Amino acid sequence: MADKKIHVFGHTNPDTDSISCAITMANLQNEIGREAQSYRLGEINKETRYALNMFDLKEPDLLSNIDDNANVIMVDNNEFTQCVPGIENAHIQMVVDHHRLNLHTTEPVYCIAEPIGCASTIMYKLYKQDDVVITPKMAGIMLSAIISDTLMFKSPTCTEQDKITAERLAKIAGIDLYEYGYKMLEAGTDISEYTADEVINIDSKDFKNGELKITISQINSSNIDEVFKRKAELEKAIEKKITEENIDLYVFVVTDILEASSKVIVLGNRIDIFEKAFHTELIANTTYLKGVVSRKKQILPALIEAMNQKIQL
Ligand code: MG
Ligand code: MG
Ligand code: MG
Repeated sequence: MADKKIHVFGHTNPDTDSISCAITMANLQNEIGREAQSYRLGEINKETRYALNMFDLKEPDLLSNIDDNANVIMVDNNEFTQCVPGIENAHIQMVVDHHRLNLHTTEPVYCIAEPIGCASTIMYKLYKQDDVVITPKMAGIMLSAIISDTLMFKSPTCTEQDKITAERLAKIAGIDLYEYGYKMLEAGTDISEYTADEVINIDSKDFKNGELKITISQINSSNIDEVFKRKAELEKAIEKKITEENIDLYVFVVTDILEASSKVIVLGNRIDIFEKAFHTELIANTTYLKGVVSRKKQILPALIEAMNQKIQL
C-alpha cells in the first residue's frame, strides 16, 4: 500500500512564503483529519529563520527527492523546474499558488491559483473555508510571508486582500506589523557570511522558454552599494553557473527594500533579450530599474514578451 501521508512543500531555494505555506497547509490538513507533513526543498534563509524564531516554529525537514505516487500538495509553486526531483511521477493532490501556471498533470488536480501578492493569503482563506482556528503561531508565519512577498505592501503584486489579511493576522499574532516586518526584512539582507556562490543561490529560479534557459536570482538589500562592492566576485560566481548549467540569460536582482527599486547584474550570451525587455543598455553588465521589485509580475513577463516578439523587418 502506498504511503498515505501527504507531503507538503513549496519551491527550491525556499523563501518565507514557501515555508509558511508548507507549515500552515500541513497543519490545516492535520486539523481536518488528514496525515500531512511539511518539508523544505533547501536551506532556510535568514529572513525565514528570523520569522521561525520569532514565532517559535520548527523548520520543516529537508526533502531531496519524492517517491513515485507519493501524495503531494504543492504550495507557492507549480513549476517542476523549481521542485523536488521525482515530482513528475508523484501524485499531486492539490496546488495552492500565485505564480503563472506551468503545470501538466495526468490526473485532475484541485488547483487554487490567484493573482495576488502571497500564497499565504490564500492559506488564510482556506483556514476560514474549513473553519479551522488560526493560532498566533500560524498567524505569525503567514503574516511574515505576506510582508516578505509583498515587500511590506510595496510590490505591484500586492493586493488589498494581502494587506487586509496581514492586518488581521497581526492582531491574532499580537505583534506590531510594521515594526516586526521591517526587522524581519532587514534580517534577510545580511549576506556578510555568505560566499558569492551562496548569495546568488539564496533566491534563484530557473525558467525555460522554448530552448532558452533563463535564471533570475534575487536578494533584498537596505544598502545596494554595499552589495555592489562584491560585484566582481558575484559576476565570477554567475559566470561559473552559466557555464555549468548552459544558461542563456542570467539576471541577478538586488532589490532595495526601502526604495522599492532594483539594481541588476545581467550576464549570458542573450543579454540582448534583457536590453530589449527593459529598453535599456547595460553598462558594465548593470542597470538600475526604478520601481521594479517583482520577478513574477515585472521581470519574467517582460523577458518573455521580448523573447516572443517577432523580428520586425
Ligand atoms: Mg516563493
Ligand atoms: Mg509566494
Ligand atoms: Mg519571492
